[in-house]
Amino acid sequence: MSTDLTVNGRTYHWMQRPLVVVCVDGCQYEYITAAVAAGAAPFLGRLLGGAGTCFMADCVMPSFTNPNNLSIVTGVPPSVHGICGNYFFDPESGEEVMMNDPRHLRAGTILAAFSAAGAKVAVITAKDKLRKLLGHRMQGICFSSEKADQATLAENGIENVLGRVGMPVPSVYSAALSEFVFVAGVKLMERERPDLMYLSTTDYVQHKAAPGTPAANDFYAMMDRNLARLDELGATIVLTADHGMNAKHGADGQPIVIYLQDVLDAWLGEGKARVILPITDPYVVHHGALGSFALAYLPALGIEDAVAERIAKLPGIEIVLTRAVAAERFELPADRIGDLVVVSRCDTVIGTSRDRHDLSGLDVPLRSHGGTSEQKVPLLVNRSVGRQPDARRWRNFDAFDLGLNLAVPPG
Ligand SMILES: [Zn+2]
Repeated sequence: MSTDLTVNGRTYHWMQRPLVVVCVDGCQYEYITAAVAAGAAPFLGRLLGGAGTCFMADCVMPSFTNPNNLSIVTGVPPSVHGICGNYFFDPESGEEVMMNDPRHLRAGTILAAFSAAGAKVAVITAKDKLRKLLGHRMQGICFSSEKADQATLAENGIENVLGRVGMPVPSVYSAALSEFVFVAGVKLMERERPDLMYLSTTDYVQHKAAPGTPAANDFYAMMDRNLARLDELGATIVLTADHGMNAKHGADGQPIVIYLQDVLDAWLGEGKARVILPITDPYVVHHGALGSFALAYLPALGIEDAVAERIAKLPGIEIVLTRAVAAERFELPADRIGDLVVVSRCDTVIGTSRDRHDLSGLDVPLRSHGGTSEQKVPLLVNRSVGRQPDARRWRNFDAFDLGLNLAVPPG
C-alpha cells in the first residue's frame, strides 16, 4: 500500500502484517521469567526460548507511566515530546499543571502518522488518563477500558464496546481493567484487523504483587493466553513496559520514605522550596503518590549545588542532579523539571510532607517505581530479527522500530 514514514526523525517501514505493540505497565522483567518458570506463561516461554527475540531495554526517566507511554508512541525521549510526568510546576503561574492534556505534547505520534497515511489504527488503554494523549490527532479506534461503556463512534471510533468484549466495565483498581484491554484487542484483531494496534495496561497487579506470586502469575497467564491468540492471528507482537517495579519497604512492611519537603523546610525555611512528585495523579490509592523520583524548586539561584550535595548525603538517595545536567543525562525537557532532580535508591521512595500522604489505602507493603532502579524493562518480539550491534542500548521506545523495521515475518 504505502511507503516508509518518517516520524520525529526516525523512519518506519509500512507494516507487512498487523503490528501490535503492547506496553505492560510496571513489567519488571522478573514477572515474565517467574511466570514462565511456573508454567503459567507458555507463549512467553517460547519467545524466551528462541521462538522470538528478547532484549533487556531501558525505559525513560522518570520511570513513570505517561512519559514512557508517550516515548513508545513517538519513538523519542521526553526532551522531544515534552511529557515528563503526570504533573509539572509552572513557575510563571505558580501552579501545578496536569500533563495529561495533548496541548503539552510537543511531538506527533507514530500512530497518528500512520493513520494519516491510511493505515487502520487502534489504541486501547486501561486508564482513561492516557487516552487523549495516545490518540492525539489519530484517526481510528481509541478507547479506555475504564470508560468503555461511554465509547461512541464519534469520539472513539467504536461503539458497543461492552457487547463486543463481553465483559462489564472493570473497577479502575483491578486486574480486570488490564484484562479488558487484551480481550478487546483480540476481538478487534479478529474482526477489524487493524494494521497497527497499541495496547497499554495498568500496573495495579504489579503494585501489589511481587514476581512469582500467585496473583502475578495469574495476571501473566491471562496476558499469555491473549498474546498467543494475537500471534495465532498472524500479528507481529512487540511487548515492552513503561517501567519496572520494586519493593519500597523495610522488613517491617513499612514504606521507607524521605519526606523531602519536610527536609527542605527545615533547611531553607517553611515553604521556601517546593517539592513536586510527578507520580501524583488522580489514582494514588495503590502507591500513596510515593515513587523514587522528585523535583525540587529552590527559592534562590546559586544554591543548587550546595543543596544538591546535602540531599545526596541523605540515606536512601541514589542521585541528585541540577536542571541542566538532569535534562542532558535523563533526556528531559529542561523547562518542565525542577532546579534539582532527585532520585532515590531501589528500596526508598520520596514524599513531600509527611502529613500530605494518605497511606491508608496501602493494604499491602509498598511497591513502586520512578527511579533508575526501575529502568530495566523487557523488549520482546515474536519474530527473529537480523543480527543487531552488540553495543546498541535498547530503549522501550524502540518498540515500533523493532516491529516495523527489524522483525522478520515468518515463512
Ligand atoms: Zn506505569
